[in-house]
Amino acid sequence: MRGVKLPVRGTHFLTWDPVRKTTPNRWWRRYGTDELVRLLLRVTRAFARAHPHAPRLLIGDLSRPRGGDFGRAYGPLGHVSHQNGLDADVYYPRKDGRERAPLTAAQVDRRLAQDLVDRFIRAGVPTLLVGPSLKLRGRGVQPWPNHDNHVHIRLG
Ligand SMILES: [Zn+2]
Repeated sequence: MRGVKLPVRGTHFLTWDPVRKTTPNRWWRRYGTDELVRLLLRVTRAFARAHPHAPRLLIGDLSRPRGGDFGRAYGPLGHVSHQNGLDADVYYPRKDGRERAPLTAAQVDRRLAQDLVDRFIRAGVPTLLVGPSLKLRGRGVQPWPNHDNHVHIRLG
């Protein structure tokens, strides 16, 4: 993988470290393909413009700089697929507007979460893994455990 690093933050997004549960995310967890990083920047910008009063989106883990294992030793459960720069986690906006990852599905602004999912679908993301509790819908959306507070997008 020829990785590029997602910036530590942007005008329209923050990065989130899912292990330390803080922003920003550490540098070595923010590598993706050029296509993935551009897509994240594009979709988060468009989302922010459409929802100027929403909290900034939190982008979590992508992959390590040269790809490879991102399993139990590095991150939360269900994380093993972040290996080749084609995967990224984006946390759903919270109802209370706090710029932290939601802890439960009940804290998620479901309307904004569905809009975020719709935007990734329209941007051409073929696979989106989402938790079952929020009942988010769309082409390519697959229910996945441990994903009630973020959408996992996968290119390729
Ligand atoms: Zn993920």
